[in-house]
Amino acid sequence: MIPAKRTLILAATVFATLCLATGLALAEDTVQILDGKAVKGYIIEETEDYILIRLSSGDIQEINWDIIDWVKRGPAFDLEFKGRWEKTKNADADELFKLGLWCEDRGHPDKAADCFRRTIEVNPNHYVAREKLGHLFHEGKWYENIKDYYAARGYVSYKGNWIPKEDKEKYEAGLVKLDDGTWISKTKLAEMKKRPKPVKPVKKDPKKQPKPATKKPWKRQKRDDAFYEDFSGEVPWANRHRYESKHYMIESNCSMKHIKRYAKMLDAVYQKYCKTFGKPASPRKCQVRIYARQQQMGRGGGVGGFYGGGRVTCYHGKFGGTGSTQTVLFHECTHQFHDMVAGIRRAQIWFTEGLAVFFECSEVDEHGKIHVGVVNKDRLGTVQAGVKSGKYINLETLLRTPQSGFSGRHYAYAWTVLYFLIYTNPGNRKLFNKYWVGVCCGSGERPGSPRFKEMIGIPLQDLEDCWKEWVQILGKNDLPEEVEKKSKEFFKNYKKKK
Ligand SMILES: [Zn+2]
Repeated sequence: MIPAKRTLILAATVFATLCLATGLALAEDTVQILDGKAVKGYIIEETEDYILIRLSSGDIQEINWDIIDWVKRGPAFDLEFKGRWEKTKNADADELFKLGLWCEDRGHPDKAADCFRRTIEVNPNHYVAREKLGHLFHEGKWYENIKDYYAARGYVSYKGNWIPKEDKEKYEAGLVKLDDGTWISKTKLAEMKKRPKPVKPVKKDPKKQPKPATKKPWKRQKRDDAFYEDFSGEVPWANRHRYESKHYMIESNCSMKHIKRYAKMLDAVYQKYCKTFGKPASPRKCQVRIYARQQQMGRGGGVGGFYGGGRVTCYHGKFGGTGSTQTVLFHECTHQFHDMVAGIRRAQIWFTEGLAVFFECSEVDEHGKIHVGVVNKDRLGTVQAGVKSGKYINLETLLRTPQSGFSGRHYAYAWTVLYFLIYTNPGNRKLFNKYWVGVCCGSGERPGSPRFKEMIGIPLQDLEDCWKEWVQILGKNDLPEEVEKKSKEFFKNYKKKK
């Protein structure tokens, strides 16, 4: 078992890159990597084998001593906090708030709360600082405790829940509230339950039906901007909903309409995870937090979401030019599922991120059906251009690249390799399974010693040659069905040529 503390926290491509950039301003410990890169942050754990460092984004990176050149330590927390606090005499609200986040990231919630209280002294309408302190907003006024807030809304406490005053009176009169909001007496409800239910027409098992010769085509989906720009029904974080779907436990302060849509897409992608990774031996509900707004997440502007401590955290909205909460959920929940079934740290970064991007590209069609294996235009462009020019990342290098050196370009390459392995050819799929069962679910591997290479039983160069040619046949707008067809044709001809 891998202790929870050592769980690797991985953020998606852009996220990780931007986190590192914003981390510099607040960082105090520096870990210099042998390849010349420096990781700045706050060292939270050290063992004989590795260092755990917390970046300002909250992400935790594990760095093996094998690849560390030297470590420079900043002043201890108390000392540094004292210095920073003394400098806040004339600070504005945002500076005070940032100091609060800085404390929070280092595991000092009390000091963080002090900073947030100072923040609202300077700016009483600092929304996020108020949220952090658990204050609630109603009709132009902030409430510091939940009782006053509900009193102002005309709610009363009843059997552990806050409900409208008139509802309490009805409950006490012995009435029952139905899902559609109507009230009936308990005796009437009992009568209703006794009535025989209408018999449903027997549905034929779709699995037993002969499959139609051609699959129904579906259209590539555009991001549903209207949905991601809709904040109606948002509640303060302190009053967030807890919604249990079949496989997920979602906490969110979005409206129930939003939450149910997310739950549906998550349960659908979960089925796809099971198909790829196998069903978890001891399944448990996966924890997901969705903040209604990016600022409430309390992270930098470039962070779409992250996986850590067993939980996926993200916000409702658009992310970058084409991304959205859906993209972020599909990516981060891949890490979560991977971690649940096998322990994410056993696999190498190229594999974990390649997988996450593979699922991140999935689309939900107009009928709510999920499609995996959708081509990502930009990432494909990166790899095709690289291969064409001969300046590409070869497989040997990709397999050896540690997390600290993993860039956006690496994500693109890792995605095509995973796509190639999972989706295109039964022989490749066998290689994937071999590595997954033998290494990812087994003893794991250390950075820099690619066991994948030993496991596959064929020269890595042969695989690379084939992958390089295959990448070139893909079209940027291909649907998975088209990739499947093209790949079939490709492997038939490739075999003949050899
Ligand atoms: Zn990731």
